[in-house]
Amino acid sequence: MAEPISESLQKKIEARLRYHEDLGIRLFYCERCAARISDVSTAAPAMPASPIPVVEESSLPKSASKPKLQPEKTPTPRRDILPPATGPSLFEVVDRVKDDTLLKIREDIGDCTRCKLHKGRHKIVFGDGNPRAELVFIGEGPGADEDMQGLPFVGRAGKLLTQMIEAMGLQRKDVYICNVVKCRPPENRAPEPDEVTTCSPYLLRQIDVIQPKVIVCLGAVAAKTLLETTRGISQFRGEWLPWRGRRLIATYHPAYLLRNPNAKGEVWKDLQKVMAELGLQVPKKNKS
Ligand code: SF4
Repeated sequence: MAEPISESLQKKIEARLRYHEDLGIRLFYCERCAARISDVSTAAPAMPASPIPVVEESSLPKSASKPKLQPEKTPTPRRDILPPATGPSLFEVVDRVKDDTLLKIREDIGDCTRCKLHKGRHKIVFGDGNPRAELVFIGEGPGADEDMQGLPFVGRAGKLLTQMIEAMGLQRKDVYICNVVKCRPPENRAPEPDEVTTCSPYLLRQIDVIQPKVIVCLGAVAAKTLLETTRGISQFRGEWLPWRGRRLIATYHPAYLLRNPNAKGEVWKDLQKVMAELGLQVPKKNKS
């Protein structure tokens, strides 16, 4: 017969369960399928011509990924076998809510005050686009324009993302765009770990509802959150990775491209991989 648990432990468990219920999570299961990066060999082919237009630098989110650009490497066998987990997965306790919908998730978020980011926000930025999209772009968090409009990627970086999507032969309404955290971090700083931990279950539910074929992580915050890795994005950018039964690729954040237009060729190469995966026509002259 199982040992009775102490009253204080019981209270802690009850509080934890209430917290998850607030998030709309009512069932629990264990699944450890987030890809963890061990090592990706790098290679540096010549950059393909990029159709992504040059945009002047501006007041961009300070927190946009600032990866150290490395010389590209020639493809060599990858060693991305998942290393043993070093701790519990952020997503282990997140269940696919029965008959979940984007509307239900939005209702569960409500006028959320679950993390400190609620204090400075104007509008929650839930996500936007095709609820049945094959392609989902995930950024890190809303900026000033997004915070005012309640829509993701509508500022200068957002305009560049729109141009990138159009360069792929798609329109914004064809894809779904959202962020790891739904409220703007103050001064556009990167979301802090407790904020990511609190908000990302909503992102996970969004992805589970949309069921995209391909996920593109824009920048290090999104990539590290979903992949649960501390490795720098430059170590796995442009590599296909398995993620909860889907294909995930990480590339640089559009805000980073505004500051570092030379990286556009690399991003375009990543987007071409996405186009090929989705069966979109890749311009011959740009095939790498
Ligand atoms: S960032 Fe997410 S968890 Fe934090 S207050 Fe906003 S919606 Fe709630």
